[in-house]
Amino acid sequence: MQFNNKNIIDKLTEGEFLNHEEWMILLGELSDDDQSYLHEKAAEVARMHFGNGIFVRALLEISSYCRNNCYYCGIRCGNKNAQRYRLSKEEILECCKEGNILGFNTFVLQGGEDPHQTDEWIVDIVKSIRQAYPDKAITLSVGERSHEAYLAFKEAGANRFLLRHETRNDDHYLQLHPSSMSAEKRRDCLMTLKHLGFQTGSGMMIGSPGQTDEYLYEDIRFLEHLQPEMIGIGPFIPASNTPFENCSAGSAEKTTLIISLLRLRFPKALIPATTALSSLCHNGMEQAILAGANVVMPNISPAEQRKKYSIYNNKKSTGAESAQQMQQLEERLNAIGYHINYDRGDYNTFY
Ligand code: SAH
Repeated sequence: MQFNNKNIIDKLTEGEFLNHEEWMILLGELSDDDQSYLHEKAAEVARMHFGNGIFVRALLEISSYCRNNCYYCGIRCGNKNAQRYRLSKEEILECCKEGNILGFNTFVLQGGEDPHQTDEWIVDIVKSIRQAYPDKAITLSVGERSHEAYLAFKEAGANRFLLRHETRNDDHYLQLHPSSMSAEKRRDCLMTLKHLGFQTGSGMMIGSPGQTDEYLYEDIRFLEHLQPEMIGIGPFIPASNTPFENCSAGSAEKTTLIISLLRLRFPKALIPATTALSSLCHNGMEQAILAGANVVMPNISPAEQRKKYSIYNNKKSTGAESAQQMQQLEERLNAIGYHINYDRGDYNTFY
């Protein structure tokens, strides 16, 4: 017999502290009925803070070169079949120009840790965007860098930084990354970003090889410690020519479960409906929003490069995932009772 666990969901909704046992029940033992209840509560909390508007961010994938060799990632340096490109300053500014015309107020620059895109180069890019668009938010997602580099990015005008912690558990981290990388180093970077005053995003994949509910519990505890302004949650999806190419993908159901739990635990956080979830199932975006997500990040990279940023197989960059298809995005949001909100959407700015 399955117990009714709505009382635990109610406690979480009320902001009460949950113990380990309660979290483990939420992570692994909810009935379908309880899960629907959880999603409803989470979407309600999101609407309470953000209304029915969904923030949009223009996503530029600035390089598919990477010096790291993460086992899950399609653009790891060890993948000799990966197609490589890097955007020039001119191309990036061109994308921003288009993003501006399309109405975006946040630019997200994401990429592999490309040795050619040095700290100085990033600073120059940020300064140029800042100069051209004094009022827009600039988000960076360019991996692990030094304290000095993060400080220089901040002073150049970057407002936000995305760096998923990937997994809080050190053993699990070593199952996902070569030993040259460390979970602690990544956490240090996150703490630095927070201290420098970046709106900081973290998060993890759902269903990555070796992941357990206990590890997810540790992830949630870590996020409680970090207090991120943004939380990115998407399913693991295998990428060809990586050590995990034959592993199975994470589930959409577990992904939306975690989105809802995090929405209730971090009511004001900016939580995207990730491209990974949309790539896994055709209505992934809607599912995420109805589970409490409140951001989408349409791709604005040059069309000919998009398919090369192949961090996992069959990654979507068309339709509602494309910045050139905002009408389609609006229609899909309208169909579930939501609409695009073109505001900057900083943390703590509520409508
Ligand atoms: N180099 C940057 C950006 C990485 S890409 C950084 O280190 O932050 C952004 C995120 O995509 C990663 O943090 C990872 O969680 C996710 N990702 C990478 N490979 C993936 C895969 N195979 N399936 C799903 N998500 C993946």
